[in-house]
Amino acid sequence: MSLEIRVETAAAERLYGVCDYYDAESLLTEDERRVLGRLRDFLDREAKPLLADYWERGEFPAQLARPLIDLDLMEPAELTVHGPARGIYQGFRIFELARTDASLATWYTAQAGLFRTAIRVGASEEQQREWMPRVIDFSLKGVFSLTEPESGSDIAGGLSTTARRDPGGNGDTWILNGAKRWIGGASTADVLAVFARDVADGQVKAFLVDREAAGVTLEKIHRKTSLRMMQNAHITLDGVRVPESMRLHNVNSFKDVAAMLKAMRSDVAWIATGIQAGAFEAALRYVRERQQFGRPLGSFQLVQEKLARMLGNLTASLSLVVRLTEQQAHGVYRDQDSALAKMQSCLAMRETVALARELAGGNGITLESDVARFHADAEAVYSYEGTHEINALIVGRALTGESAFAR
Ligand SMILES: Cc1cc2nc3c(=O)[nH]c(=O)nc-3n(C[C@H](O)[C@H](O)[C@H](O)COP(=O)(O)OP(=O)(O)OC[C@H]3O[C@@H](n4cnc5c(N)ncnc54)[C@H](O)[C@@H]3O)c2cc1C
Repeated sequence: MSLEIRVETAAAERLYGVCDYYDAESLLTEDERRVLGRLRDFLDREAKPLLADYWERGEFPAQLARPLIDLDLMEPAELTVHGPARGIYQGFRIFELARTDASLATWYTAQAGLFRTAIRVGASEEQQREWMPRVIDFSLKGVFSLTEPESGSDIAGGLSTTARRDPGGNGDTWILNGAKRWIGGASTADVLAVFARDVADGQVKAFLVDREAAGVTLEKIHRKTSLRMMQNAHITLDGVRVPESMRLHNVNSFKDVAAMLKAMRSDVAWIATGIQAGAFEAALRYVRERQQFGRPLGSFQLVQEKLARMLGNLTASLSLVVRLTEQQAHGVYRDQDSALAKMQSCLAMRETVALARELAGGNGITLESDVARFHADAEAVYSYEGTHEINALIVGRALTGESAFAR
């Protein structure tokens, strides 16, 4: 009972209320809070009513795409007068999206995180000048095509899509052959950032491939049980011709790809934290309303223990990602830092969503309660952009100096 009273007092004054127990949002400026508040209003009003239905149909609610883009969230004009939007704002933007729905967060992050990072890290200065403004306003939509049907965790050594300079040309055209799997958002992208191994030097290079180019085939991955709204594609590349001008000039080995993954994993840690917030809030609502034995579920000791455990997971994850984001802003940021955050926030997320589902009893497996959606979607987030084991191995290597990936 006392928990409920405290929650309502705090929640009335702050954007994130009890979900942000240690008040990390105090690090945001008023302008940043206002932009995030606009996003919150949009999600509550326009997105939430659609989620259960579209999740069940396995379709993305396309009508949300344009209005979400028009909210100008990536580099909002009002936050960029003196330079790029701050990392803490970018993190809370992901948190807010994921707190509503993991597919929406993944869809947005495919452009704002994965593709933007591919351009930021991989493109030359000249290419960035041309492309980056269009990435930010979504007029050039792209996706990150790394994983292959036969290579996921071992993609660094296993990547088998090939790039070969056209032997008949003057060296300014490449020919790509191979396949990519799980590529999120590919069906609505303009270009696919494809990673392929140069047959001449054996190194990994990256290319922006027109989605409609001859030789590109996209198939939707059906029958997913997680992130059902987000569309993932199996892509086949059969003799696809790409001009040298569309090669990302700063990607010359897998090390450059690893630099991208390092940046992107912290985004996923924010997604995992946002999912926990959404599941926790839904469970808290439920146990306040649902009565058993003539009393609200929230009044039982064992239920309160679960709420406290969920809040502990969420607060620890939020503290972790906030600190990681601060480190990133100061340029103190290593592979193992984002790997640890992705690993730990996802472990916590798995427990939090399972407890939320448990607290909602039988109703916790129907889409009528939000917890079912968060519970199912968490599984994909747990595995993408580096599984638990791979991130643990990155941390383990840093701790011991021994690489244990292939033992
Ligand atoms: C919804 C979704 C969206 C995705 N979006 C994209 C995208 O946009 N772009 C993209 O390129 N990829 C994307 N991926 C791919 C994702 O990054 C891979 O699924 C992930 O890297 C794991 O690869 P895998 O699925 O092939 O699993 P595998 O590599 O086959 O691993 C299976 C299991 O074996 C374990 N394992 C593997 N190697 C070891 C080892 N050495 N030691 C211990 N355990 C090990 C793994 O941890 C895992 O538990 C997406 C995946 C999903 C599910």
